[in-house]
Amino acid sequence: MYPAFRQINAGPRELTNFADTQKQKTVSLEVNNVTKYYGKQAALKDVSFLVKRGEVTGFLGPNGAGKSTMMKIITCYLPPSSGNVKVAGHDIYEESIAVRRKVGYLPENNPLYPEMYIREYLHFAAGIYRIKNRKQRVEEIIDTVGLTPEMHKRISALSKGYRQRVGLAQALIHDPEVLILDEPTSGLDPNQLEDIRNLIKAIGKEKTVLLSTHIMQEVEAICDRAIIIKSGEIVADSPIEKFKNASDREIFILHTDAQLDMKKLKAVKGVLAVTKTGTGRYRISALSGAGVGPSLTALAAAENCTVQELRKEEQRLEDVFKSLTR
Ligand code: ADP
Ligand code: MG
Repeated sequence: MYPAFRQINAGPRELTNFADTQKQKTVSLEVNNVTKYYGKQAALKDVSFLVKRGEVTGFLGPNGAGKSTMMKIITCYLPPSSGNVKVAGHDIYEESIAVRRKVGYLPENNPLYPEMYIREYLHFAAGIYRIKNRKQRVEEIIDTVGLTPEMHKRISALSKGYRQRVGLAQALIHDPEVLILDEPTSGLDPNQLEDIRNLIKAIGKEKTVLLSTHIMQEVEAICDRAIIIKSGEIVADSPIEKFKNASDREIFILHTDAQLDMKKLKAVKGVLAVTKTGTGRYRISALSGAGVGPSLTALAAAENCTVQELRKEEQRLEDVFKSLTR
């Protein structure tokens, strides 16, 4: 209750426990050196990462990279061949029941019982977790995931977007600390996609989320951080912002009211290449951090041109992803 006080008075053994307790408060998911073989094929090779409490992390990789395998291991659906996972401080081997209580899981392709009614299905899901006040909890979760307008329907009568909401409701019914979502937006139309992304973002304010996808924009739209996996190995793990700045080049878009001399543009310090894209329009590739912007403005002024637009193009995360997973 008073951690600082406890620490002062604790013996060496209690100190270790204290450190563990502190870790539990800040780390929701701990993956340590996980390897998984299917027969002779290694689907995961010595994978390790931590997800902090409250963090929304994208687990990104091409098809067959090992995303679903990792998620099945975290949720106790598959044992790893070696290595270990802890969810909210609970070990998947020794405390699998506790892990299941702490984790909500929306599997790939969202398997549901189409002949069941929404409420009936969610009551059933609540029953699995032995939730008290089941009726009240089902109503609450229907509201949380925005199922209210469709709540009297059979699952088979729902659009794909609403089915995903049922899947999310099922994953959230026991109020887990950690939410594992395996390609939650695959197969949705653009409107449904936006709705579900917004819903996940809202949920992400309260929970630790690990979300798999093979779409970079998805991670950009929803996540704080991305872990990129390729052929069972992690190839990158950074905050989204860092990916954007990962390149040693930046692109400037320059638009002036008259033509500039291409030779002079190319001679600006830090400029690597210039492409003319229209009258007075240029796409300029430059060394990152070379401070090319002010030099371009100065050049335009010296040439008696007015700058109508000068901006740095955001690096396309898609390109970063491609270069890392190719
Ligand atoms: P992802 O979800 O990133 O597309 P998966 O985890 O589903 O990747 O698969 C990783 C690799 O393991 C793939 O090569 C896949 O074919 C293989 N794999 C997945 N599940 C099985 C299984 N049950 N038996 C054999 N191989 C499997
Ligand atoms: Mg998968």
